[in-house]
This record gives sequence, C-alpha cells and structure tokens, in this order.
Amino acid sequence: MLYCINTETYEVHVIGCPFIPKKKKIFLGTYENPSAAVADAKINGYPDANGCYSCCSSAHIE
Ligand SMILES: [Zn+2]
Repeated sequence: MLYCINTETYEVHVIGCPFIPKKKKIFLGTYENPSAAVADAKINGYPDANGCYSCCSSAHIE
C-alpha cells in the first residue's frame, strides 16, 4: 500500500483515505502495513507521526 503523511497533523494515511488533506501532505512510499509507514515517518523527520484512526487503526495511538 502507498502511504502519505499530513504535514500539519502528522497523521499517516493510506492513499484513498477520505481524511487525506488536499494540501499539506507528502508521500511516504509503499509499506507492508501502517506500523511500518509510521515507523519510517518517525525516523524521517516526523517524530510525532501517528496512524489515522480510520485507515491506519492498527498504528493509531490515542
Ligand atoms: Zn486515513
């Protein structure tokens, strides 16, 4: 799956999620699961990255 991150809220989304903002997003790349996408975002300049509660619920931390 291809993932992107909201550069304002640091929410990670799967491409196609309705909660992806039209602007203020960058593509992270392709990952096997949401946890891998969030982990990679964290080491690439987004330490506050968190999975979207809708599309990345397995990597979402309240
Ligand atoms: Zn999402």
